Parts: sequence; structure tokens; C-alpha cells
Amino acid sequence: MHQASAFHLVGPFVIGATCVLCGKTYSPQDAGYVCPCHGDEGILDVNYNYQAARSCFPGTAQPDALARLNAQPGLWRYRALLPLPWDAAVPALHVGMTPLYAAPHLAQRLGLAQVWIKDDTRQPTGSFKDRASCLGVALAKQGQVPVIATASTGNAAAALAGMAAAHKQPCVIFVPSSAPPAKIAQLQAYGATIFLVQGSYDQAFELCMEACRTMGWYNRNTAYNPCMAEGKKTAAFEIAEQLHWQVPQALFVGVGDGCIMAGLHKGFCDLERMGLIDRVPRLYGVQAAGSDFLAQAQDAGLKSPQALLTKAPIAAHTVADSISAGLPRDRVKAMNAMVGTKGSFIRVSDAEILAAIPELAAQSGVFAEPAAAAALAGLHRALELGLVQPEESVCLMITGNGLKDIASAMQACQPLAQPVELAANSAALQKVLAAKF
Ligand SMILES: *Cc1c(COP(=O)(O)O)cnc(C)c1O
Ligand SMILES: [Zn+2]
Repeated sequence: MHQASAFHLVGPFVIGATCVLCGKTYSPQDAGYVCPCHGDEGILDVNYNYQAARSCFPGTAQPDALARLNAQPGLWRYRALLPLPWDAAVPALHVGMTPLYAAPHLAQRLGLAQVWIKDDTRQPTGSFKDRASCLGVALAKQGQVPVIATASTGNAAAALAGMAAAHKQPCVIFVPSSAPPAKIAQLQAYGATIFLVQGSYDQAFELCMEACRTMGWYNRNTAYNPCMAEGKKTAAFEIAEQLHWQVPQALFVGVGDGCIMAGLHKGFCDLERMGLIDRVPRLYGVQAAGSDFLAQAQDAGLKSPQALLTKAPIAAHTVADSISAGLPRDRVKAMNAMVGTKGSFIRVSDAEILAAIPELAAQSGVFAEPAAAAALAGLHRALELGLVQPEESVCLMITGNGLKDIASAMQACQPLAQPVELAANSAALQKVLAAKF
């Protein structure tokens, strides 16, 4: 089959991949996208020789090796623990090593010792998804696969299209025709081939899968291609390194498919195996009340893979389009992340998500799209529930830029103080200045 030839599991220290459902391990030569025993649900987890990787990883490398790592831009300093050959070319856009800001005003307001903001609004295409797509495009190019494809509601598509443009790698995008016009314009600008699917994201996903099988394209689909979670784990590496390997107690992130949460978990577990950190932060997956598959599963005690695979999809509706997922594709890994770190899934309303946009912006200067601001809404809820203690240090993973969804930002700012109307003359100016100051 074409499909088998497009995917290669390679990397300096990659030793195989393990199925999250049955635990069967495949060698790099034998690994396909998924475990053949379970069809598309047999998602794999990539394994490394950590002992060998230590000499080439920040924090454990000797000074001369570290100097070479420091010369790699952004997240590529972590390529010892990525599934990509050392010498493979990567897109020239600067992905990763985004700022980690202390947010003292927010911390004080929330009554917490420390709040950190990991600002992935600053990624090249405006979202966290660049961490996965830069790796996908590098892998497609390295494997000389003529086309890379993905289905997406928006950000993963923009990330793939942008990285593909930078690397001159043809790409094909399947998006539901209901996608926000601004997100489609971003794809057009990058020059992607776009299929506007007259149906849901789930239907777009299935058509993309079929196209990849038929055409032998490289398949970047989330929670299918196991390398995408590997790209996403670099955010955990950065947070830990930026804090000199002293990780926060708790981390909050918006959850749709669950791949980001799973990737963060993988990243922290990698660091623990390398001996760089001595514990993994509790991971809190924040879900919109109208798209709360994983929160529902948690409440019902459906934590085993079997239970998660048999739970029926829900009808997802939320203002936070990037975390709208009726059937989270990476639900097994995301649940493992929650259980394994003693975290929780937290449900917040659309009103709470919208209110978090101007709160985060005004208290920290970081302007987030709804799915990203959901992290702050989730922290509020966790404090109410007593899940986080005042003396703890907390990190908010801010996954997408507020400019991605201006309509929601405008809606969120409706209840706030309105701008002062000012006639364009000096007398009017003097009048409002006297009144206001
Ligand atoms: C994709 C995305 C998420 C959620 O990631 P999942 O892997 O689907 O859980 C959160 N925020 C933003 C901005 C995203 O684009
Ligand atoms: Zn399996």
C-alpha cells in the first residue's frame, strides 16, 4: 500500500513505538502510522533510548555539545528526542522557544504564589499547532513524499499551510465549509490546496484519510500520525528549561482532541526519565461545557481505553472553535495524562471563556483566542474547587492568538467600558480631558 511507504519512524534515538491500546511495541522498521490490530484507533507512542540521548539534550549535554544545540533555532534544540534524522532540513520559520512570562498581577488577583504564561500566540502562524506541523513538513520532505495533507477546523491547517509554504512542500487541506472565513483566507494566502468539505470536521477527517490512502500522501492528521504529539511535547521541554528544570505544580490547557495535553504529558515524562525533573506537573484539561466529552467521561468513571472507545460522540457546540470536538481523537492519551499526573478535566462555560480573554489581556498583555483563554477560565474554576493551593506555582498554556477570532474578542469586550466618542477638534478634546482626568 502507498500508505506504508509515506510513513517512516526515524530519528537519532528512536527505538520504536508502542500501541496505547494493547501495549504492543513495533521496531522503527515495522511501525506504521497506527497499530494494525486496532485500525485508526491504535494510536502509537514513540519510544527513545533516553540513556543515549542524554549526551545531546539540553540540561544533560556536555558544554561543546550544548553549544551545538544552542545554535539550533527554537524547538530544534530538542531534536535528540524528536522523530527526525539529525541532518534533515527543517522549515526556516522560527517555531517554539516562545516566551514564558511571569504574571505577577494575575497571580496576585488569583491569590497564587506564582503564575506563568507560556505564550504560543507568538508562533509563526499564530498557534501552538506550528510545533507539530513543522515536524510533519520536515518529515514529508525528508521522505520525498510529494504531498502532505491534513483535516482541521483551522489552526492545524494554517500551521501546516504556513510551514509547507516556508519549506516548499505541496500541501492539501480538508476543512469544513463552515470554518471561519478568516481562517480560510489564511490558508489561501499561504497557497495551500484547499478542499472545503460540505460537512463536519469528522467528515473532513475521513475524506482526508481516504485521500492519503489513495494518493500515498503524507498524513499529518492529529491523533493518527504519532509524530505530531512528539512535536507538541516540546512546549513541556521549553517550560522546564526556561524554569531551570523546576517545573510548576500545575498546568492548565484547553482540550479538544486532547493531543496537546497528551504531548505535554509525554514531554514532562521524557524529562523525568532523563532525570532532569523530579516530578511531572498536574495537568488540567479545560473543556468548554458544550464540548466536554472528556469531562463527562471523567465524571462517569470511564477512564479505561475500552470505556473511552465505546462512549458515543457528543454534539459539540462552543464559541471556542479550536476545542470543539464531539469525539476527541486523542482521548485515550489525554485521559492517561490526566490520571497519570493526578490532574483533572475542568468544564467552563462559553461566558467564562469569553470573560477570560480581556482578563488575560489586561492583566498580562497576552491576547488569546477563546480556546487559549479557556486555560485561565479553568484556573478560576480549579481555585473554586480547591484543586489548586495558594502556595502553588501554576502555568497557563496559551495556545492561540486573539487575532485568530476577532468576532469572539469583540463579543468578549462588549460588557467592558466603551471607548470615548470624540469629535475631531481641540475644544472637544479639552472637554473630555477635563471630564476624565
Ligand atoms: C488545537 C487547539 C487546542 C486544543 O488542542 P487539542 O489537541 O485538540 O486538544 C487548544 N487551543 C488552540 C488555540 C488550538 O488550536
Ligand atoms: Zn494495538
